[in-house]
Amino acid sequence: MRKTLIAGNWKMNGSMASVIELIEGIKAGDSGVAELAVCPPAVFLMKVGGMLADTEIALGAQNVCNHESGAYTGEVSAAMLTESGCRYAIVGHSERRSLYLESDQLVAARFDMAIKSGLIPILCVGETLDEHEQGVTEAVVAKQIDAVLELSGIGGFANAVIAYEPVWAIGTGLVASPDTAQGIHHFIRGKLAESDAGIAEQLRILYGGSMNPGNAAELLAQPDIDGGLIGGASLKAQDFLAIAQAAQE
Ligand code: PEP
Repeated sequence: MRKTLIAGNWKMNGSMASVIELIEGIKAGDSGVAELAVCPPAVFLMKVGGMLADTEIALGAQNVCNHESGAYTGEVSAAMLTESGCRYAIVGHSERRSLYLESDQLVAARFDMAIKSGLIPILCVGETLDEHEQGVTEAVVAKQIDAVLELSGIGGFANAVIAYEPVWAIGTGLVASPDTAQGIHHFIRGKLAESDAGIAEQLRILYGGSMNPGNAAELLAQPDIDGGLIGGASLKAQDFLAIAQAAQE
């Protein structure tokens, strides 16, 4: 049985005051229906980690360096993240891939560093609007996953999460239909099952892309959608909690 995971990607938003308010709101309303995780900007990780210490809510980072330590200005190491209390680290978010030109190979290296350091990577995969319109979604997602399989092997997915995030749905208000999203999630699970059916069966595959309290229940009801990676709607405690609540409907 895969426990639903609702993870909030706060991106580069918030201030110390708003972060404290958001965490207090989430803590006050967490009903335990789903596992919750929040991924604040790196500079707030220690503060948020401290506030979550007495809760079941997990802390996650928005990225992790592929090197252990050294001259990598601007990067944050896996050891620093675990010391800050992180359980998860997002890798390969489409904004990292498109705005900061992170390749499939770099994303795979970040994923590999995360698993070797005891962090659970949340590997984001998904196609652009162009690729969507060309009908090559499965090929794009397969290539992104293959880069990770080549470096970490199927064993790398024993303690990992995948987030399917169609790029055209991120921050746009457009959402993949539950049927379409289910089809890709099923494809991803089937692809991994070719290497190891047990790992594929227990792997949580989240949907990301304008998930909100209005559309969450239908998406989360799909058999291969095991949660959500939430951007905009994770910045309001009420909306984030309503999405988590939708997991039981
Ligand atoms: C995201 O960036 O991971 C995301 C899903 O954003 P949004 O929910 O705002 O589309």
